[in-house]
Amino acid sequence: MFNLILFGPPGSGKGTQSERLISKYGLKHLSTGDLLRNEIASSSPLGMAAKSFMDKGQLVPDEVVIEMINSALDNNPQANGFLFDGFPRTTAQAEALDKLLGQKNTEIAIVLALEVTQEELVRRLLNRGITSGRSDDVNEDVIKARIQEYDRKTAAVADHYKKFGKVEYVKGEGNVDDIFELLCREIDKKHAA
Ligand code: ADP
Repeated sequence: MFNLILFGPPGSGKGTQSERLISKYGLKHLSTGDLLRNEIASSSPLGMAAKSFMDKGQLVPDEVVIEMINSALDNNPQANGFLFDGFPRTTAQAEALDKLLGQKNTEIAIVLALEVTQEELVRRLLNRGITSGRSDDVNEDVIKARIQEYDRKTAAVADHYKKFGKVEYVKGEGNVDDIFELLCREIDKKHAA
């Protein structure tokens, strides 16, 4: 199994690059943002509870997303590997993920961290809001809150995986194809290793 985390702030291009990476490497895409939006669309109790946090740009409580990932792992026993997108977003989530993967005799192989400047993030998210239908992309205050949550709680996830030498930084600005090439190069280095 080859499991990777695509890491970076909101708007850094995780969704775009995830689509390409899962198709090239045959991975199962697990995006907690998408899973939560599906729960909201089906008006499930979990979705309703998560919505109030998401509308404010705040993180959903750890136990909710950890349980969601736990079920997703169990529901995909045949996967060759997972691409985690938007998860883990706190150190507690990272520790829980390491434990869940450990129980399945596997682990995170690599954390690919996309680097994008704050001005570019806000610009991209507001732009996405015009077409995405995502209410959290329309309001600049909500966007700023999401970036703040990232700085306060999520940036530490990179430090967690740095301890294990698993983090590789990739510049997330410029041409989408070029960024994809850089990501693939890092994965192939690990695969070959
Ligand atoms: P983006 O990275 O563009 O902000 P996501 O789709 O990954 O978008 O997440 C949207 C929202 O869903 C987040 O602002 C947060 O409220 C919630 N969310 C997604 N993943 C997690 C997670 N792992 N932990 C807590 N909240 C999450």
